[in-house]
Amino acid sequence: MKLRLAGIVPESIVDGPGIRLALFFQGCSHRCPGCHNPETHDPAGGTEIDSVELLSRIKEAQGIDGVTFSGGEPFEQAVPLAGLAEEIRRLGWSLVLYSGYTFEALLQKSESDLHVRRLLEAGTLLVDGPYIRKERDLTLPYRGSRNQRLIDLPRSLSAGAAVEWKT
Ligand code: SF4
Repeated sequence: MKLRLAGIVPESIVDGPGIRLALFFQGCSHRCPGCHNPETHDPAGGTEIDSVELLSRIKEAQGIDGVTFSGGEPFEQAVPLAGLAEEIRRLGWSLVLYSGYTFEALLQKSESDLHVRRLLEAGTLLVDGPYIRKERDLTLPYRGSRNQRLIDLPRSLSAGAAVEWKT
């Protein structure tokens, strides 16, 4: 299945806990003012890659604690990313998901979109919400503005409401 990738950081320490393979997906309709990755907005930009090829590159990673899907807006490519996310979990890695949508908005989307649901279910931690410039705070771990939350996805999905992730 084809997807569009903006870039890969093999060993990131800012995109979730520990050392992570961070995948930045192309395309984002949120267009947050002050976004640090504006080159990821155009859904036709970046590079097209097959999910099977991307998975084989992910499998080559060594010494990482997990994988992160960032962007861009990963949930705008939920169809190819749901399967990729499930394969990553089968390999035993944690999966951090970034989204400009809030958890509540994604939960609502998941009611009519099975792939959004699968992607949420494969995630371990969600960093949610748009970047809001007036809420900017560079002291926060893994996020850029105070409105963005760290959400424990397994616990939140079973509760049906956002449960904060604890380190
Ligand atoms: S959701 Fe993320 S990538 Fe998209 S515009 Fe906002 S900060 Fe940028």
